[in-house]
Amino acid sequence: MGAPHIVIGGGLSGLAAAIRLARFGEPVVIIEQHNRLGGLNSYYTRNGRLYETGLHAISNFAPRKQRHAPLNKLLKQLQLSRDDLSICEQLRSEIHFPGTEPLLFSNDFSLLRDTIDDVFPHALAGFDRLVQRLDHHDPFAPAPFTATREILSSFLNDQQLIEMLLCPLLFYGSSWQDDIDFNQFTILFRAIYQDGFFRPAGTIKDLLDLLTETLIERGATIITGTGVEHLRVVDDRVESVILENGEELDCNIVISTIGSDETRRLAGKNIDKTDIVRLSFFESIFTVDSTGKTAVSKDATCIFFCRQNRLRYRKPNTPVDLKSGVISLPDNFSGREAGTMRDVRITHLANYQQWFDARAASASSYDDLKAAYARKSARVAEAYVGSFFEAITYQDSFTPLTVQRYTGKIEGAVYGSPNKHTDGACGFANMFLAGTDQGYLGIIGAMLSGVLMVNRHILPKLAK
Ligand SMILES: Cc1cc2nc3c(=O)[nH]c(=O)nc-3n(C[C@H](O)[C@H](O)[C@H](O)COP(=O)(O)OP(=O)(O)OC[C@H]3O[C@@H](n4cnc5c(N)ncnc54)[C@H](O)[C@@H]3O)c2cc1C
Repeated sequence: MGAPHIVIGGGLSGLAAAIRLARFGEPVVIIEQHNRLGGLNSYYTRNGRLYETGLHAISNFAPRKQRHAPLNKLLKQLQLSRDDLSICEQLRSEIHFPGTEPLLFSNDFSLLRDTIDDVFPHALAGFDRLVQRLDHHDPFAPAPFTATREILSSFLNDQQLIEMLLCPLLFYGSSWQDDIDFNQFTILFRAIYQDGFFRPAGTIKDLLDLLTETLIERGATIITGTGVEHLRVVDDRVESVILENGEELDCNIVISTIGSDETRRLAGKNIDKTDIVRLSFFESIFTVDSTGKTAVSKDATCIFFCRQNRLRYRKPNTPVDLKSGVISLPDNFSGREAGTMRDVRITHLANYQQWFDARAASASSYDDLKAAYARKSARVAEAYVGSFFEAITYQDSFTPLTVQRYTGKIEGAVYGSPNKHTDGACGFANMFLAGTDQGYLGIIGAMLSGVLMVNRHILPKLAK
């Protein structure tokens, strides 16, 4: 047997790529720098309780009978059973802006349309035309960046509605400041508004265990706890992969899921542009004892909010931008039992450099800043989910530095670089990108990206 195919990164895109490849009996090695697989979507335990690190809600919900829906196609390509996921649908999500009633959406698209009819009746006809346009748009056809705001303005005669519709889609997938590429917008509009949210009944650990067991059953080699340190390149071919522990592995085709600039750096190349703005987040998780007087919302799954009329989705000049964010209530999915302890997670845009400077000053100033912003963030969230501050029993926060540490993404850029490589090409004959910098987003998107890159760049070569 020849040299194995190598997948760099054990996040969800890497796991999906490796499972797809192993299905064809190809030798495959997946390499993850951390001891645990999962990347952005991982978990840890504190006080005997499991905390998820990335999962709010998974987009692209689809009923079982929609065989061509991305979720069902993905499961088929990986030969995984839908029943193993024990799918729980969102209850309902909300978008709050000042001075107007919230917009609501669920896995039934008519709820969004109905609330637009209630709150912005003068914009409903334009909204219907926009949906028609999106239904006929192919977001996978290569195209230069096209600003979505301009297109929305040509359909919707209400700026507030434009801001509100953009808010969830930017927070759940834009690597551009204040806007999003129209292709990405189309993908996210379908994934979030038309398909909706779900999550597994269990935890992200159950999903990761399922994927890991599948990989092992199919004979893949999993290396954890040592990352790829560099790539030995001859001409434009990656000949071998050198690990941090000194081991050198010859390779056939490489799928890298760690980002385009991050991959080029491993190959000793200069990175494209250093002036691009990379967006990252500050997130806090609070465990709340709900037996007392607290009143945490029991029916909203995700709440997207902005405290000013125009959404500023950009790198803030302060460590955290408290003016907008996402609140995730992971207990609020149908079929999930909420115990007496409920989790509230709140995410805001953050400034990597300011967190970097705080930590460079001292560990205590970094920790103090984290605690101060977590407090402020909880107080902001209470306006949307009910009071809970006095009943917090546990809290933790992560900053852009945490994201960088656990994913290797430069400046903790959750959605990667704004420069996407939809064909996976990154300048090497036998290495291709998958994951956020390839252009697919979120958990289902990341996994589809891994599958797609294997289908496009490796499987056709096996057939020959
Ligand atoms: C706070 C937060 C909440 C989110 N919530 C949701 C959500 O609710 N729903 C949703 O669909 N999506 C969500 N996402 C986005 C989703 O997590 C990502 O889109 C997806 O997980 C990306 O997967 P990936 O495999 O492409 O990248 P990653 O998860 O970043 O995986 C890359 C992996 O590569 C490893 N790596 C890096 N460098 C090296 C190296 N040199 N050698 C070896 N390994 C290396 C990293 O350690 C990492 O494990 C969220 C993200 C964040 C940060």
